[in-house]
Amino acid sequence: MSFGNIICIDDDRGILVSLRDQLTSVVGNEYQIELAESGEEALEMIEEFLEDSEEIPLVICDQNIPDIQGSELLKQIHQICPHTRKILLTGETNPDALIQAINLANLYRYIPKPWDKTDLSLTVKEALRSYRQDQQLVEQNRQLRLINQQLQQEIEERELAQSQLVHDALHDALTGLPNRTLLMERIHQALKRRRQESEAFIAILFIDLDRFKSINDSLGHAVGDQLLIQITERLQSCIREGDTVARLGGDEFIVLLDGLFCTQDAVVIAERILHKFEIAFHLETHTVFSGASIGIVATDNKQAEGSALIRDADIAMYQAKNSGKSRYVIFDSTMYTQRVELLELEQDLRLALERHELSLYYQPIVELETCQLKGLEALIRWHHPVRGMIAPNHFIPLAEDTGLIVPIGKRILEIACRQLSQLKREFPKAQDIKVSINLACKQLKDDDFVGAIDHALKEAQLPGHSLRLEITETTLMDSSEAMVNILRQLRQRGIEISLDDFGTGYSSLSYLPRLPLDTLKIDQSFVRAMGHEKEDLEIVRTIIALAHTLNMNVIAEGIELASNVQQLTTLGCDLGQGYFFSKPMHFDDIRTLFSEPSLGLNMRSFTVV
Ligand code: C2E
Ligand code: MG
Ligand code: MG
Repeated sequence: MSFGNIICIDDDRGILVSLRDQLTSVVGNEYQIELAESGEEALEMIEEFLEDSEEIPLVICDQNIPDIQGSELLKQIHQICPHTRKILLTGETNPDALIQAINLANLYRYIPKPWDKTDLSLTVKEALRSYRQDQQLVEQNRQLRLINQQLQQEIEERELAQSQLVHDALHDALTGLPNRTLLMERIHQALKRRRQESEAFIAILFIDLDRFKSINDSLGHAVGDQLLIQITERLQSCIREGDTVARLGGDEFIVLLDGLFCTQDAVVIAERILHKFEIAFHLETHTVFSGASIGIVATDNKQAEGSALIRDADIAMYQAKNSGKSRYVIFDSTMYTQRVELLELEQDLRLALERHELSLYYQPIVELETCQLKGLEALIRWHHPVRGMIAPNHFIPLAEDTGLIVPIGKRILEIACRQLSQLKREFPKAQDIKVSINLACKQLKDDDFVGAIDHALKEAQLPGHSLRLEITETTLMDSSEAMVNILRQLRQRGIEISLDDFGTGYSSLSYLPRLPLDTLKIDQSFVRAMGHEKEDLEIVRTIIALAHTLNMNVIAEGIELASNVQQLTTLGCDLGQGYFFSKPMHFDDIRTLFSEPSLGLNMRSFTVV
């Protein structure tokens, strides 16, 4: 194996040969010994070796060669192979000339001619050793540089991963917006910054999209995601640098406004945002509109807590939703009290089920032509242990929001069926009485709904035609094929379906013929106004005609006056209910009513037959 080439240069062939012999005795066959008789030949040789990546640890050159001075040649060689050890053989004895030659050619050594064999041998050995040492150093250096480079790269990658982790922990993955954690930090910083300035306000806008759930449900999550991204862009276009848009999750966004002068500044931004929501969102496959409800809280109290600000903005947003959506509401402290009350009410309502505080009152439904009692509308009452009797309008919306309406509805169904069954057992005249039960949309969507009806009827041993179920227009607006299917299943059991509060919703009339409905209930607002407003009378007339055309019966609600009865009868209205006949009554009073020989309690205006 060869450690490389030693090149000897002299124009005297004899000298070259003797050099080779001597070198061979020193290095054996560890090195290849090459001979060149001129500078030109030497340079060509070197070039070839370099091309083949062969090493040249040593060059020994005579000072006197015809085509070039030895020191000059070694200088050129040094430029191409700086690590190669160079030895000059020279007869020169002038020290200045020798030093000049050493410096010029970067000589390892010069050896005077004629050379001393031992001196040459030792010098050659030493030169090769120093070359190898050098090469090892170079290699070690190279390795070190490589390791260093790798380390540097690893550090950079780790730093990148770390900052990515920090970023992910503080941002929402879909929109890239700050998340709740980062938002809280920003609010904290904003309050701290403004502590010096007594005049400065900060504001939180709590933004909740109005129709996001239905878009997500009907068009799919991918479309929902696109919408959220576009909304993010619009929100960002409404704020200044230094303000923050954050996403709390779902369809809830927060805008943090810093350095305001007054609450009005926040209102301006809220209006700008609402304005942006008036424009359609063009998604890949659909164009949609999405409104937003905004709760605003603005404060110059630098001691405020971020979480309390968000809570208050949330309460105001809730208020904006309840007052009709697509608007902003500014928080005030009474809202907080109301919210706490609502939460307490929710808590109490959960307990109300367990404690059997819910009961039913019944309002008679009378056939207008004959004034005979035909049915009873079951209306829920809550006997609150502290607040006394609570009317349904005060807790049914809450029960719907919280989903409590499903268990409550089941309880109502059971009570109504049981009590009607008792009435029928006790009084033969109650045989054909129907009980009307109000249903909330969520109940119909409950998978178990038809099962619950069957169960209640079976337990009370009642036929389906004893029941009339009242749904509202809003329920129908939400109607899917599945819901229509459920209505059909109910009807197959002989149960009547009634559309309550007809005329107050905003739905299109075109759905009416396509739905399995038996009765329309004219809302009491029309009945009340009918006596003095001609238009309302005409509306009632039209509703009755429409219902009859579609083979439906009509029940008028809220009949308070004898004149109402007379007008409605003339218009051909089938049934009616209202304070004129009777207020909703306790079940015991209903029983008393049936137990009387012919006429109702203190109402003398209808008969129980
Ligand atoms: P609704 O189903 O339209 O019931 C008629 C409401 O009008 C009842 O109010 C009744 O007491 C009242 N009313 C009846 N006649 C007159 C009258 O001549 N004048 C006036 N001013 N009012 C009259 P209530 O019992 O407070 O119920 C309010 C609403 O609460 C009901 O409206 C219904 O939507 C809902 N509700 C009542 N009970 C239930 C229930 O068990 N389940 C569900 N989901 N909702 C119920
Ligand atoms: Mg009703
Ligand atoms: Mg009604």
